[in-house]
Amino acid sequence: MAETDHLNVLNSTQLIVQKALAKLGYPDEMYELFKEPMRMLTVRIPVRMDDGKVKVFTGYRAQHNDAVGPTKGGVRFHPDVTEDEVKALSIWMSLKCGIVNLPYGGGKGGIICDPREMSFGELERLSRGYVRAISQLVGPTKDIPAPDVMTNSQIMAWMLDEYSRIREFDSPGFITGKPIVLGGSQGRETATAKGVTLMIDQALQKRNIPLKEAKIAIQGFGNAGSYLAKMMHEAGAKVVAISDVYGALYDENGLDIEYLLDRRDSFGTVTKLFKNTLTNKELLELPCDILVPAAIENQITHENAERIQASIVVEAANGPTTIEATRILTERGILLVPDVLASSGGVVVSYFEWVQNNQGFYWTEEEVHSRLHEVLVNAFESVYTVHTTRRVDMRLAAYMVGVRKMAEAARFRGWI
Ligand code: GLU
Repeated sequence: MAETDHLNVLNSTQLIVQKALAKLGYPDEMYELFKEPMRMLTVRIPVRMDDGKVKVFTGYRAQHNDAVGPTKGGVRFHPDVTEDEVKALSIWMSLKCGIVNLPYGGGKGGIICDPREMSFGELERLSRGYVRAISQLVGPTKDIPAPDVMTNSQIMAWMLDEYSRIREFDSPGFITGKPIVLGGSQGRETATAKGVTLMIDQALQKRNIPLKEAKIAIQGFGNAGSYLAKMMHEAGAKVVAISDVYGALYDENGLDIEYLLDRRDSFGTVTKLFKNTLTNKELLELPCDILVPAAIENQITHENAERIQASIVVEAANGPTTIEATRILTERGILLVPDVLASSGGVVVSYFEWVQNNQGFYWTEEEVHSRLHEVLVNAFESVYTVHTTRRVDMRLAAYMVGVRKMAEAARFRGWI
């Protein structure tokens, strides 16, 4: 097995952060400061379930670094959440905010639970309980949560309501990804997918592939994957494969995306309706121009990286490719747009939402899109330039761009 592929997501993230800081010439102390979140809270949340019994859930909130500004990042609800994963995710949020130049550091939260098996009422009580447990640590100028895997605008609304009750004033800037009527932003729901489409456009231009001839395979049909399939289909590309947790669908002539979106449930499940499905692993190796892992971590590894047929891989999920697989893909000349760059559309529009909440003045969808476009095209260019001029892979280039702002901020503050 490749030496780095046994590392968990936290250790492999630390390794690349260390490399990026060394390449930029920062001292080891800077790495000591950034290798772990500066604050990590573990909470136990008792929830009265519908059968009358109390179940106690474990949750986390990590604040990676606030040298630049308040920390920012989503809360995921998933049975596989671990402390190390939340820590790694908070570091990735710091990197994302650095790459797209937002005035934030990274934060992240998670609760070990399976929302697919919980009722609406149970989810509401869990969401409110989580906010009560972390309320001392978060706030519009401290740490601003948002949606992530299996959380949505309804969950954000309950969290906002709980926080506003505790603080005794309405605080829309406490959380982003809210419903529009509660101060959410136009374009937030589709922002991650929109950002990925902008990244795909930039990558296609670098490879001289016209969008209309491009074949795309998307792993995952959740918030990012499903909107992305719709947008790529509408733009004239051929979406040849999609998948959910249960399996994958493939048609070399292009899938009927509208039909699939129509039949999809709120957790992104659709393949159960079909026979002869492929596996998620098989999807990754299908013939296509663009492969988009938009599901979970560690999907492209040293075991399958040699067999990836796409010439462009755009990571809409957090952490889908291991370090060793990154090396293999890069050596094979595949253009990899790494997670911390490719999936940053969500947090960019979250920032726009927070700005609108602070101003009490709301923008049109066109304004949101044109600002998002400008931010992401600049971010892609700055990472691509470091990749070509410093001769480093795209992931290391993205980390180098991402750590610079927080390292400079830490230095000006006199921390290092
Ligand atoms: N959870 C999303 C991410 O991983 C969005 C975070 C945010 O909007 O703050 O980037």
